[in-house]
Amino acid sequence: MIDLLPMPRTALTRKVLALQIEHAYQQLGTSLAVNLVNGLVLVLIFYGDIDGRKLLLWIAAIYAVTLARYALLRRFRDPRLRQQTHETEWGSLFLIGALGSGILWGAAGIALFHPTSQLHQIFLAFALGGMIAGALPLLSALTPAFQLFAIPVSLPIILRLIAEGDRVSLTMAVLFLIFMVAMLVSSSQFSHILRESIELRLKLLSSIEEKQQQAMLARIDSLTGIANRRLFEEALANEWKRAARTRTPLSMAIADIDYFKRYNDHLGHPGGDQCLRKVAESMATAARRPGDLAARIGGEEFAFILPNTQLSDAAAIAERIREDIESLRIPHPTSPTSDCITVSLGVAEILPDETTSTRDLIKAADAALYEAKDRGRNRVMVAGD
Ligand code: GH3
Ligand code: MG
Ligand code: MG
Repeated sequence: MIDLLPMPRTALTRKVLALQIEHAYQQLGTSLAVNLVNGLVLVLIFYGDIDGRKLLLWIAAIYAVTLARYALLRRFRDPRLRQQTHETEWGSLFLIGALGSGILWGAAGIALFHPTSQLHQIFLAFALGGMIAGALPLLSALTPAFQLFAIPVSLPIILRLIAEGDRVSLTMAVLFLIFMVAMLVSSSQFSHILRESIELRLKLLSSIEEKQQQAMLARIDSLTGIANRRLFEEALANEWKRAARTRTPLSMAIADIDYFKRYNDHLGHPGGDQCLRKVAESMATAARRPGDLAARIGGEEFAFILPNTQLSDAAAIAERIREDIESLRIPHPTSPTSDCITVSLGVAEILPDETTSTRDLIKAADAALYEAKDRGRNRVMVAGD
């Protein structure tokens, strides 16, 4: 395993590094194209003026390294192959590629240095400077890729110019050195800004997720895991508006466990809680259509919002819920009406408009529930009957 990058210690820095590596590879295709084109241009311009074998050898080396880096990029883009290599190792391989390319471009500073033509020397320095400037945005995503490229490109030509010894060459060497330092400083600033923006984005995303999670938890009943009264009221208000707009009926069923106080007294509170969970689980599966909602709105009281549902259909759903609970066959030793847990339900329907409110619907369903209790429990009563 090759490791040129420090192992990130926190989850956040690990994610930041992973995104920096991703960013670096996203730019790699452009880097490689620049290498191929600029290498070719340099060779074509110098052809005939510099030893042909040297030119050929150099361009062959540039193309070989570029091809190897392209193979690396393809591996990175393949999700299956990408998983096989550790994140920091992908970073290290990227850095090695940048260094290899830097060394070859640096070699041009000596191998393609024209011994007598200052024009060729200036052009070579210009081409290498251009490679460094072009690499700045492409390699700065992953520190120290740019340094690994820019320093090997710069040093050979600077030393070669110094070796010339004349005033023009020395001036060029100094200018190149200043240019290299300026580029290194810019690159580290660029990296810093990129890292900060990635970090900020990640923090923002996780705080949004946290808020969404909190908002969801505030609407879930902690005992049963189904919707709580708050979500019930919000959903009812929304469905009310939608039904008023679309002029469709809105139905509601309210269910209450029969003789639950006796059950609790007999089996204790934890036993009662266990029963509530089973009942809630069954009820949650009864509200099937999109927009339907089952909620625990009180101790042993549940409510169902049934949008775009007529009274007769709502009554059928309520009857199914009653049967479902009965078929759970949770023993209730102290119930006067049954040997197992049962529920009574009240059902009501309304056509929402300006003259009515959600309160009217709840009141009507509640009155029907009261009626069901009154008539002996374990039954469904429909408002208005
Ligand atoms: P009815 O058939 O008329 O509905 O009789 P009931 O005993 O079910 O009605 P009542 O309202 O008198 O009693 C409700 C009981 O529900 C009171 C309390 O013991 C129980 N209860 C309410 N909330 C919870 C809870 O969160 N957990 C448990 N275990 N029991 C609860
Ligand atoms: Mg009750
Ligand atoms: Mg009850």
